[in-house]
Amino acid sequence: MPIAIKARAEHFKGLIVPKANEHEAAVVDTLEVYGMENISQVINFLNGSYDAEPCIIDTRKEFYENQYDFDLDFADVRGQENVKRALEIAAAGGHNIIMIGPPGSGKSMMAKRLPSILPPLSLSESLETTQIHSIAGKLKRNSGLINQRPFRSPHHTISEVALVGGGANPMPGEITLAHNGVLFCDELPEFNKHTLEVLRQPLEDRQITISRAKYTVSYPCSFMFVASMNPCPCGYYGDPTHNCVCSPGQIHRYLSKISGPLLDRIDIQCEISPLPFADISQASPGESSRNIRERVITARALQTKRFEEYKNVHCNAQMSERMIHHFAEPDSDSIALLRNAMERLKLSARAYNRILKVARTIADLVGSPTVLSEHIAEAISYRNLDRGDWAERGIPC
Ligand SMILES: [Zn+2]
Repeated sequence: MPIAIKARAEHFKGLIVPKANEHEAAVVDTLEVYGMENISQVINFLNGSYDAEPCIIDTRKEFYENQYDFDLDFADVRGQENVKRALEIAAAGGHNIIMIGPPGSGKSMMAKRLPSILPPLSLSESLETTQIHSIAGKLKRNSGLINQRPFRSPHHTISEVALVGGGANPMPGEITLAHNGVLFCDELPEFNKHTLEVLRQPLEDRQITISRAKYTVSYPCSFMFVASMNPCPCGYYGDPTHNCVCSPGQIHRYLSKISGPLLDRIDIQCEISPLPFADISQASPGESSRNIRERVITARALQTKRFEEYKNVHCNAQMSERMIHHFAEPDSDSIALLRNAMERLKLSARAYNRILKVARTIADLVGSPTVLSEHIAEAISYRNLDRGDWAERGIPC
């Protein structure tokens, strides 16, 4: 696809590609794309003795087709209403989120359903995403446009190059493959500490520049960062139904693998309890992704309007400190509530702006022009790791 786009820009009439790639290249309209099986076909075609038909794709039709067909739906998730609510807020404001809970509480099951409630890709985002996956050789055979937000879930043993990109022949890494979508790091403390540290800059800049002796390349990487972790190495700290077998030292080492600067980039921290039996056995399914997505889309539309004049800001999560003061200024009741919460829960100073950003999104979800104390109160509840007891156990503050 990138070659086809370049060919069109340089006013080439057509392009010959291997048969398996014709669909992908033909997405670029006004360029005649021919898929060929072998070299002799190409020679005969150029000599005029083989008459091939160009591959014609209706790009718009392709873009809209099955855009909302997701294999995974939130309707399959019973219970865990507070976590689903946190994910909805994250999706609505583009906030990074970390889920903390014991094994089997459904963290990755819920994370995988996140793309189904995100706003749909625009056509230009879709072209951008497809080009990246084309360059990386990740497009499926005979596939054309990617029209759903990517969900990338690298294993914790991933190397730094595979995560951020690079290598002898520069290739985009997982963070770039997640561009316009979600990067999910399951079991965050199991990742190599240094590998996690290299995530900090791309999370901030939303692009990655890789400089080696032979080249310097930049790749886009604007993604929602979603992480999950256990509360301790065995996973059962604080679980009323299991005994935790970890020593305080082991817990401390485990939690301190996540650095403060990385946590600084995560707006929502959500603790998950083990699923009560009543929830597993309840007969009614959860709310469908489609319903949740409609609320998310409405909230995002308000943000698009709000940030119209700002070039690089599209959602609440991207607000600068100044913008937070402008758009999410708390009233006097809320300031009192915030001060009280910060003192009582021993919240760190970094929590303050994050709370206001998330509160802005919560207000957007109900269409409230101002941020009210009830929105602030809910946002405070998503700062679990900032509480003093987590710092005592080893979370850096
Ligand atoms: Zn444990």
